[in-house]
Amino acid sequence: MIVMKQDATEEQIQAVMARIEAVGARAHRSPGEEVTVIGAIGDLEHVQRLELEGAPGVEKVMPILKPYKLASSQIRNGEPSVLEIGGRKIGGDCFALIAGPCTVESREQVMSTAEIVKGAGATLYRGGAYKPRTSPYAFHGLGEEGLKLLAEAKAETGMPIVTELMDVRDLEPVLEVADVIQVGARNMQNYTLLTELGRAGRPVLLKRGLSATLEEWLNASEYILKEGNEAVMLCERGIRTFETAYRFTLDLTAVPVLKELTHLPVIVDPSHAAGRRALVEPLSLAAAAVGADGIIVEVHPKPDEAICDGPQQLFASDFPAYAAKVEAAAAVAGKRLSAVPA
Ligand code: PEP
Ligand code: MN
Repeated sequence: MIVMKQDATEEQIQAVMARIEAVGARAHRSPGEEVTVIGAIGDLEHVQRLELEGAPGVEKVMPILKPYKLASSQIRNGEPSVLEIGGRKIGGDCFALIAGPCTVESREQVMSTAEIVKGAGATLYRGGAYKPRTSPYAFHGLGEEGLKLLAEAKAETGMPIVTELMDVRDLEPVLEVADVIQVGARNMQNYTLLTELGRAGRPVLLKRGLSATLEEWLNASEYILKEGNEAVMLCERGIRTFETAYRFTLDLTAVPVLKELTHLPVIVDPSHAAGRRALVEPLSLAAAAVGADGIIVEVHPKPDEAICDGPQQLFASDFPAYAAKVEAAAAVAGKRLSAVPA
């Protein structure tokens, strides 16, 4: 990692980048508010040949000791990444409220939920067309037909869409509608999928694996970042512990710890952690207050009739009151709901 002097010129920055490429490493530039930091990504033997100490415009050269480099907070000198999705900012002091059904079931369900969550100030709309299910006999989503319904909801409401991709063979149709591609917990370590998403360049919401450590998770994000896609958000959705009284254990300690380790925005999914509706609001408020950059929550007009995850989905009619409370909790942590462009 090469930290440039505050008054380094563009020419000096370019010269450092050219030197990095010349030894066979890759140069990664992070323009910060105060100083420019350049990452030299490559084998140690390449990077050791750089000899950039004392070069014009160079303040200091430091190794990044973490196994993940581009995800580390060090590479951005401690500044958080702020993503912009359909004009809505996520990260820094901008909080994203992402809401929608677990899975796309019908036009009526998708459109009515979209209208309600939009009206209550949701930033992005979620809905799965390809569903990872524990049982191979369960409903696996409407596929391309579901994507078409999400496209209609986007056209109608203007809300950007978050939807899951499980198989790279479905990348093309997913890219047609998704503003953010979700990688589910079960695919967190599907490295070929992550690499393809790195190349696809579309923002990614990377969920934490059911039993993944923070280091494994950040290494997974590095697979996407390494391909040049810098738009990655992490999503804590509960982990496996010995406790069986609820579906998963929402690891809220991970939020402030991730803030130390990485510059990537951290989203929390209370729905899949809780598994039941009554827990969703208290967990959401805690997540917002602890400093998460957003919440992704499941909402359905008639949860009792939902094809999957019915017991944890919020009633769409309850969403506006819920959203107001979450917004207030985010304010406790100094964040405001991402503004929807006029
Ligand atoms: C989902 O978001 O619908 C989902 C299946 O989540 P997870 O991958 O976290 O289980
Ligand atoms: Mn679900």
